[in-house]
Amino acid sequence: MTKLKFPFVTLSMAIFLAGAAHAADKPADAAAVKTATKTATKTTPAKAATPAAGATTATWWGHAAWVITTPGGATIAIDPWLDNPNAPKIEHPKTLDAILVTHGHFDHVGNAAELAKKTGAKLITSYELASLIGAPNSEPMNIGGTTTVKDATIHVVEALHSGGFGQDKSGPKYSGPAVGFVIEVGKGPILYHAGDTDVFTGMSLIAERYHPTIAMLPIGGHFTMDAVGAAFAAKLLKVKTVIPMHYGTFPALSGTPAQLREALKKAHSTAKVDEFVPGEPQTLK
Ligand SMILES: [Zn+2]
Repeated sequence: MTKLKFPFVTLSMAIFLAGAAHAADKPADAAAVKTATKTATKTTPAKAATPAAGATTATWWGHAAWVITTPGGATIAIDPWLDNPNAPKIEHPKTLDAILVTHGHFDHVGNAAELAKKTGAKLITSYELASLIGAPNSEPMNIGGTTTVKDATIHVVEALHSGGFGQDKSGPKYSGPAVGFVIEVGKGPILYHAGDTDVFTGMSLIAERYHPTIAMLPIGGHFTMDAVGAAFAAKLLKVKTVIPMHYGTFPALSGTPAQLREALKKAHSTAKVDEFVPGEPQTLK
């Protein structure tokens, strides 16, 4: 592997890019990677969500990016890096009520600024990151806070990770703590999006206080917990369903849903694994 030459990228991005370059069996080249991450042509209309009326749906955009719709008409994007290598080649959402961002790293902030500007959606994230992203409509929050978006009640909870924003010469700027979100949908499920994190004992408190039934958990490893860690998390959270995310985007994120299933079995967990295909909406029960 040739020496990396990424003067303005974060350590995490450099490792991601190294993985991408390795996979392509070509010298690492920031311009080439930039092009690679722009391959999502926006020519195909997004599939309409077709679940039963009154359902809560989720559409995975690859990595940790999601768009959730609720029975009360809320459309909420989470960590919207919609141009990631696994993103579906469909149009970006035209209407959003809220954009939730767990922390300042590029693979989570993603297209937040542009989407916030285009849709007028409320940006919900840490106080520090909200000021750095600079959306026209933002609700700066912190761990322990609760807000509402139509029929969705959103709680900001802790995550065990770092936070930093920006990739210029001066290095990343402090962007507040990394967080997770618990989303209580009126007449719908209680969903937990963990953001980037290792398993932590506070997940027991999340279970006791908010009673999530579905958890979107990172399983890729390297920057977050791996599949074994996610199985521990599922037990602490007492969830019925685990939706794996933050894997397969780059070779460094090597965890797989098969490993998660195996780890859950070994941990004697009854949680089931619900795998999503990017771009295909599914009902959350
Ligand atoms: Zn990440």
